[in-house]
Amino acid sequence: MIATKKKAAVTESSASRSAQLLDWYDRHRRRLPWRPPAGERADPYRVWLSEIMLQQTGVKTVGPYFEKFLARWPDVASLGRASQDDVLRMWAGLGYYSRARNLHACAVAVLRDHGGVFPDSEEGLRKLPGIGPYTAAAIGAIAFDIRTMPVDGNIERVVSRLYAVEEPLPQAKPLIGELASMLLGPSRAGDSAQALMDLGSSICTPKKPACALCPLNDDCVARARGDQEIFPRKAPKKAGTLRRGAAFIVTRDDELLVRTRAEKGLLGGMTEVPGSEWLAGQDDEAALKQAPALKGVARWHRKAGVVTHVFTHFPLELVVYTAKLAARTRAPEGMRWVPIATLAGEALPNVMRKAIAHGLDL
Ligand code: SF4
Repeated sequence: MIATKKKAAVTESSASRSAQLLDWYDRHRRRLPWRPPAGERADPYRVWLSEIMLQQTGVKTVGPYFEKFLARWPDVASLGRASQDDVLRMWAGLGYYSRARNLHACAVAVLRDHGGVFPDSEEGLRKLPGIGPYTAAAIGAIAFDIRTMPVDGNIERVVSRLYAVEEPLPQAKPLIGELASMLLGPSRAGDSAQALMDLGSSICTPKKPACALCPLNDDCVARARGDQEIFPRKAPKKAGTLRRGAAFIVTRDDELLVRTRAEKGLLGGMTEVPGSEWLAGQDDEAALKQAPALKGVARWHRKAGVVTHVFTHFPLELVVYTAKLAARTRAPEGMRWVPIATLAGEALPNVMRKAIAHGLDL
């Protein structure tokens, strides 16, 4: 960990660093769909929407989703009046669906409790669903110019290299936050934060950082030592236990049998094909026994191979079984038929899209 006595020197040089950083940002800032032109105040709705989408998802993937959401719901009030189903449908493919449910709940709360206007304090923002300390700081700094530093992965990398922070993440978060805050100038907090984010994304990259182009290279400790890539230090990750299960792809002409997952829990409220539980150590036979009871299915056809998917806490392996039912067969209770041609419009998580593609040879 950086020695405490070093902090005085750190503070001293921080003022010039923040000025260098802003100067670099004014010349090299990224153009992103949610950013206004230079010098204009950012819209809290756009900042919030992009920050929620960017949690665990890259800028390239988020761009088109952000545009789609904005075209359909141009402000937080219109999103607050939308149905959760429509929001989940529009979100499908972005993953981590609790974000979409919280996004909708937050828009409803802003409309109902704040007249459709986001609170302009970190404290007020943090009371809203799905807004934690990081997102509150990001909206606060970028949209309301509150003097606060939202520390994302890019900023963690830049700061841990700049000061050679030896403590591993996640324990080092408070120290990195403290050091990052020293890079805030007297004003333009949002620009300071976005400058560090852009620096981390375009120059101080995980591999082979382009230190020659970095505005902070003169006093970067890791650069001087030549060991930039070892930062940020990370505590070893525990891999989750593999879970196994089965997915049942049932068709009736050109329609597929689906159901909606329970509201709470993993992938809550999303569309899925019928399936078994996902359990560690479950064998194929045990998973097949959980097939839905369907009139007209004498035996299931097992597709060769398996579908794999990695969730944050565990990897999953699914065996896929298929069956064809006669035209006009009614869907069992709690399930429904949807035309295969309109599946793109369903709130299907990626794992289900993979299972369906495997089962239907798409
Ligand atoms: S000098 Fe290199 S390692 Fe240090 S902050 Fe800049 S890009 Fe990152």
